[in-house]
This record gives sequence, structure tokens and C-alpha cells, in this order.
Amino acid sequence: MKMLLLSAALLCVAGTLSACRPAEQTPTQTGAGTTDAGTDPDGRPRVLTTFTILADMARNVAGDRIEVVSITRPGAEIHGYQPTPSDLIRAQGADLILNNGLNLERWFTRFTQDSRAPTVTLTDGIEPVNISADAYAGKPNPHAWMSPKNALIYVENIRRALTDLDPDGADTFRANADAYAAQIREVDEQLSTQLGQLPPNRRALVTCEGAFSYLARDYGLKELYLWPVNAEEGQGTPRQIRAVIDGVRAQGVPAVFCESTVPDKGMRQVAAEAGARYGGDLHVDSLSDEVPTYLDLLRKDADTILAGLTGEQP
Ligand SMILES: [Zn+2]
Repeated sequence: MKMLLLSAALLCVAGTLSACRPAEQTPTQTGAGTTDAGTDPDGRPRVLTTFTILADMARNVAGDRIEVVSITRPGAEIHGYQPTPSDLIRAQGADLILNNGLNLERWFTRFTQDSRAPTVTLTDGIEPVNISADAYAGKPNPHAWMSPKNALIYVENIRRALTDLDPDGADTFRANADAYAAQIREVDEQLSTQLGQLPPNRRALVTCEGAFSYLARDYGLKELYLWPVNAEEGQGTPRQIRAVIDGVRAQGVPAVFCESTVPDKGMRQVAAEAGARYGGDLHVDSLSDEVPTYLDLLRKDADTILAGLTGEQP
């Protein structure tokens, strides 16, 4: 009890924090740890996600019953993001926080340190693919959403979390989750058919970040990348670039790619020196104007990969 009082007092000493707002504001009644900071004006519960892809998935399940907001913006680099003071205030005002887990959000502990909102990790129940290269060897690859089969597990975890938060919405969330899962299965089949057209000697996916391990596994592609997980430097070391040039040459890979959220300089050098095409930008860690939804992201990547590796325009 003493501890609780103390931490409440500390929150108020910090001054700007909205946990200290005057009592006349009506608190929402939506779940554990709720404060009024940032609550949707129409009184809907507010769910925060760490990045845009999770927000899109959660909106598909939530429908209109819940407000879903992503902390990182479209196009942002999400691994090494630094939460701003206003992000921390939003975390305090949230009714629920959804994160990816598998060490994706290196900033998550700092982001939630002052928040009492429950957190749910959407990769719970997913069988991780381990990273094989560099300092990350043996650690789980965090980009599990790049497998539509895994996305079905994300959706089920979201459905359960939203039902815990808003039990009256249970039927709505189930119907929305079922409809969305059907769309995900459809895109999975589409990708399987599309990438299945690639001849065996063209089944190599060369990227900047090693973010495609799950996609490569699902659709039978071999994977080669400059660096395993985005880090601050984000360019690729000369040694990493040399290794990929050698791999592309040795396997006669016709096209290489890089992700939209990181510099493509190193991969353009690979293309030039190995005599491969630069096949274009792939989308992994963030939605954007070009790929406004998760399903658009998967479709667009499959088109880009197919066009690059076959030399045909999509
Ligand atoms: Zn990434």
C-alpha cells in the first residue's frame, strides 16, 4: 500500500503527467490501469500498438468499438525508436498496449515503465525462426508477421486481448477476426501461387535487413542479407557488403532488394559490383502511403520480388 501511494505521489511530482489531472474529469471505466490521459473523446477504450502494422491488424479486429493508435508513425524505423515524452504520457493513458515481442522493440521497457496499462505480446504462441548470423546468432528473428500463417496467431492474440478489455464486444471481435483471418488466408494462397512460379534457380531473396526469414520459409526462398537486424548504423559494413556480393555472384541471383525504412546505398553497391539488378524497395517494418495496410504490404512485396527475379514488370 505504501509503495502504491509513493508511486502515485512520484507521478504527480513529475507535474506534466496527466495521471495528476483534477478529479472533475470523468475517468473511463474500461479496464485495469486506466487513467484519463489521451482517452478517446467519445469514451471508447484506447489501445496503443508499437508500430503501424500491429495497429492495422488491431483495427481490423476492433472495428469501431475501440480506438487504436500506433506509437511509431508510418515510415519510421521501429527497432531503435526513442520514445518521446508525449509517447510516455500516451502510454499512461492507454487501456491496453500491444507489442510484437521477440526483442523487436528494444525501447519497450522504457516506453511502458510509467504505465499501468496491461501489455500483450502478439507473438505469444509463435514458433520463432532463429537468426544465424553475426552478434544476433541464436536469437529469435522478430519479423514473425511476414508469415501470413503467423499473422493468424497475431489476430487471435488481438481478439483475446480486446475481449478481455471490452467483454461486451466479444461477438463483434470474433466476427471481425474471422473475416480478417479469411482475407489473410486468401493473401497467403495468392503469395504461394505467385512465388511458386519462380524457377528453382531464381529462388533467392537478397535484402538489406534479414527481415524475410519467415516469408522465405513459407514460400521456399533462400535468404541472403546484409545485416540481421536494423541497428543505429544501418548501412552494412564493408565485410557484410563483400559477403553478399560474393553470394549473389556465386548463385547468379538476378535481382537484389532493400527495405523502404533503411538506406539502400550498400545494396546498390552489391547490385553494381555483382552485376545484378536493383529490384526495388520492399516493405517490412512499417506501413506507408504506398502500402496502407498489412495485406497491401504482403501483396506489394510479392509483386516486387516476382518482378525483380523474373525481370518482368508486375
Ligand atoms: Zn526490421
